Amino acid sequence: MANLLLKGFKLFRKDNYEGNTLMKKLVKEGQSPDYFIISCIDSRSNPGTIFRPEPGTFFAHKAMGAIVRPYKKGTALSAALQFALVHNKVKEIIVLGHTGCGAIKAMVEKIDDEEISSFINVAQTGLEKAKATCGSACTHEELLRHSEEEIVLLSAENLKSYPSVANALAEGRVVIKPWLFDMESGALLQYNNDFKQFVPLTGNKKSDNA
Ligand SMILES: [Zn+2]
Repeated sequence: MANLLLKGFKLFRKDNYEGNTLMKKLVKEGQSPDYFIISCIDSRSNPGTIFRPEPGTFFAHKAMGAIVRPYKKGTALSAALQFALVHNKVKEIIVLGHTGCGAIKAMVEKIDDEEISSFINVAQTGLEKAKATCGSACTHEELLRHSEEEIVLLSAENLKSYPSVANALAEGRVVIKPWLFDMESGALLQYNNDFKQFVPLTGNKKSDNA
């Protein structure tokens, strides 16, 4: 039942093998993406979908909730970051969380599945922070939203414990951007250090050219 995939692949093939020469150039000369995107496994917030990227635009890493755990040698993410930052010249690392995230909901609601909880619970401090910010008057929906934001920030912070990232940051070669895709409104938000909150990069008229 891979018809949906084949339908898309045929379009991709038409655009990129018959339509233009970019793919051939990338295959021949190699890739050099500027971005490394860490996103959730969610099928609706897939960066390959929402950014409509040309081939060669970014490296992609996926984990439930876009959660980045503190550095541990030999993980899929640490190897990928090493490749992207040491053997390639990625300039921006984007942690892309999203609203309505099932992984964050599973953590907030304490899912009874050890295989899942043993991973997502590495972001517990994000949830604790969200609870503190939210206060006792917070609705469940508000707590989910705060948690989604805090966990993106926690993941962005945890990235700094990866040697490849720490070195690149120290040399001013890379920046880390905490982003949140608001699936309901279609807005893309970035954490603003001055305002201490997520602000739209696009999705409303005022900042469409940002
Ligand atoms: Zn998600």
